[in-house]
Amino acid sequence: MDKKTKVKRFYAHCDLIEGTTDVWYCSFCNELVKDKHFKEEHLNKDHNKKFIATLDEWKRKEARGTSRVRPENAPNRLKR
Ligand SMILES: [Zn+2]
Repeated sequence: MDKKTKVKRFYAHCDLIEGTTDVWYCSFCNELVKDKHFKEEHLNKDHNKKFIATLDEWKRKEARGTSRVRPENAPNRLKR
């Protein structure tokens, strides 16, 4: 049995889920959602602010040590 540790992705708010082209992570709901979710559920929310907040949280976790990784250029719906 290959003991290679499987790398787990950390998803920031509005990150694209790996292996998909239209599923995103919603940090408000802690759910994987389709694009329309953001318009239907969070029309007046500040998604950039939430994204930065989740990214800051991630950096603190990373500094403490975590098995999760987030690629530098992770696809994100706020950056299209
Ligand atoms: Zn949501």
